Amino acid sequence: MSTLETPLKKELGDRTAVALAKAFGMERVGDLLRHYPRRYVVRGELSDISELREGEEATVLAEISAVHLRRATGRTILEVVVTDGSAKLYLTFFNQPWREKELRVGRTGMFAGKVGLFNGKRQLSHPDYQLIPDGDDVDEAVSGFAGKFLPVYPSASKFPSWKIAQCVEIVLDGVEELPEYLSVELLNELGYPRMTQALREIHQPSSLESSALARERLTFDEALLLQVLLAQRRAEYRAMPAISRTIKPDGLVSRFEALLPFKLTEGQLAVCAEIEIDMSATHPMHRLLQGEVGSGKTVVALRAALTVVDSGGQAALLAPTEVLAQQHFKTITKLLGPLAQAGTLEGDASGTQVVLLTGSMNAAQRRDAYVKIGSGDGGIVIGTHALLTEALAFHDLGLVIVDEQHRFGVEQRDALRTKAQVPPHVLVMTATPIPRTVAMTIFGDLQISTLRELPAGRTPITTHVIPVLLKPHYLDRAWERLREEVEKGHQAYIVAARISATETEPEGMTDMDRAIARLVDGEKEEKLSLTSVEELAPELALGALKGLRVAPLHGRQSAELKDATMQAFAEGKIDVLVATTVIEVGVDVPNASMMVIMDGDRFGVSQLHQLRGRVGRGEVPGLCLLVSAAAEDSDAKVRLSAVASTLDGFELSRIDLDQRSEGDVLGKAQSGVRSHLRLLKVLRDEPLIEKARLVGSKLVDSDPTLAGMPTLAAAVAQLRSEEASSFVDKG
Ligand code: ADP
Ligand code: MG
Repeated sequence: MSTLETPLKKELGDRTAVALAKAFGMERVGDLLRHYPRRYVVRGELSDISELREGEEATVLAEISAVHLRRATGRTILEVVVTDGSAKLYLTFFNQPWREKELRVGRTGMFAGKVGLFNGKRQLSHPDYQLIPDGDDVDEAVSGFAGKFLPVYPSASKFPSWKIAQCVEIVLDGVEELPEYLSVELLNELGYPRMTQALREIHQPSSLESSALARERLTFDEALLLQVLLAQRRAEYRAMPAISRTIKPDGLVSRFEALLPFKLTEGQLAVCAEIEIDMSATHPMHRLLQGEVGSGKTVVALRAALTVVDSGGQAALLAPTEVLAQQHFKTITKLLGPLAQAGTLEGDASGTQVVLLTGSMNAAQRRDAYVKIGSGDGGIVIGTHALLTEALAFHDLGLVIVDEQHRFGVEQRDALRTKAQVPPHVLVMTATPIPRTVAMTIFGDLQISTLRELPAGRTPITTHVIPVLLKPHYLDRAWERLREEVEKGHQAYIVAARISATETEPEGMTDMDRAIARLVDGEKEEKLSLTSVEELAPELALGALKGLRVAPLHGRQSAELKDATMQAFAEGKIDVLVATTVIEVGVDVPNASMMVIMDGDRFGVSQLHQLRGRVGRGEVPGLCLLVSAAAEDSDAKVRLSAVASTLDGFELSRIDLDQRSEGDVLGKAQSGVRSHLRLLKVLRDEPLIEKARLVGSKLVDSDPTLAGMPTLAAAVAQLRSEEASSFVDKG
């Protein structure tokens, strides 16, 4: 009898096992059994192509009558025409040229998906399909499968869905009863089938109801493993010792507060109080602080840092990029004023020093930073990954602040943590609002604080979409408006998606952006014709914005030039900055009141929201114009309208996440967690995640080492080590 660990070789023979390993990276029985069907084709529910209507989910039995592969820069489009005798249906696949090999003219198969209408033709884009093996009698093949429900699997070139189904059948035959994660009592309480039965039902359903329940059980397992892991982490944190850090009367915190040119908002005060209580405890704080750009997180984090300095320790702020680290360094040095100049003549003798440490510093600068960090003279240390270097030693690291958490994994948090003799307090900050379930999934080991309000005095930003194709004159009006803004003494940003005309791809594009771009103009074959900084800046300076001081800013300029340009803009010596998304982070010029974003459809929802957060930071009302050539009924237009219609970052992040794959939702650093999630969708499965959290916490509370549940304990341990190794892989 086989188990989940049995090599597939033993069950399926060498040839098939090698093919499965190549196609999907599967090694063991468990890998194959966790390759779940995406859907089932139900015999008797096949539709006539002539009767398909737009928007409907359909499965058709049809023959391939034409195949056409089109190639363009960076993408391919495979168009397949199928017919069932009654009518034609078009299938399209983006960037999957290999499917041409199996989707050959004359082959018959079942094709399933949502019917769309394009240029008046009915089409399925990226349909699931199941080809009838060559030479098989079609009727027999369709009716000949074991059950009534034909599983449709995610397939690969060498491995069509029907072949996977055959392998699964063989493997399931060799499986008797697999070790079970959950106790009988718990299974009864939840009303779930045993795991073995669930695996059988999901691959070979006896009814749609039982396969749905099986799927729920297996989805719940995924959520549960994560929640147990998180519950264990919380328990570990509670068991760790920490140094209690409290505010000294008349110390740095109180002098800092006296220096602040503004009053903290209610929200800031509340979060500061939470942090104060956390850090005064003798076990470490693990708190996530979320709040939009400009909500005042930095001030809150700085106060926490000063609390630690007050009590004789050091705080380290870990930033994801060099630019952000430098920006934090400048902001914090400025906010602290004389308090950051200990050891200098102008400085406050009882203050501290702020130290910057980044990878680009030269040996002398680095040595200087190391000395200050090692001696403890540097009370506040700001840096990039360079802070994680093994050779770096702190005098007394009491607080770790991680900015923009989801670019870092748990392990990186831990790497910095080990630099303290006693576990430090940890504060994680993020400007991307995180929906509740995502927070419970990724940050479930942290306490969460949220800054919902922006500091008073901010005026809301007004956002409009400019449809350039439909209303080209609106753009002329936009430049006039911008000129008026400058004449009133304000400044403006213009954002372009790329640096120069010769570039093939916009700057700072993520995989997600690329995927969206491809889908948006998948049907357009012409080369990307996006506005670039290098074209637009001179064009405006000589044309529509003649007489204004216009300067370009982008990532390919030297660090000195970028700095000088930003400096000049901050001092009001430049009226209009034409920039790429380099301005997304770290720019704070309250006098800037207007932003025009060219090719707005090229940016993600959250990115647009972050970008426009650069205006309306002062007393002046902000105006943001999103210029786009996207069609009125396109997804891109819907995204832009969403951004224009609300300033609620939580709402926008939900829209943004809805369009992303689970991998993107969980962030790059979470690949251990990600590869474990096959069925769970963090946005969709809220009730299941909550149930798993409850069950997971209870299990860990009553049996912290899970001694009574060895199968569960082993699976959780494996998840933990996968998460750890995904961190090691990335160095
Ligand atoms: P975040 O880090 O959340 O993006 P910051 O802490 O950088 O936000 O704050 C944004 C701007 O608002 C900064 O210029 C900061 O000095 C200012 N600020 C912060 N808190 C307040 C407040 N309570 N009242 C007025 N301005 C504030
Ligand atoms: Mg900030």
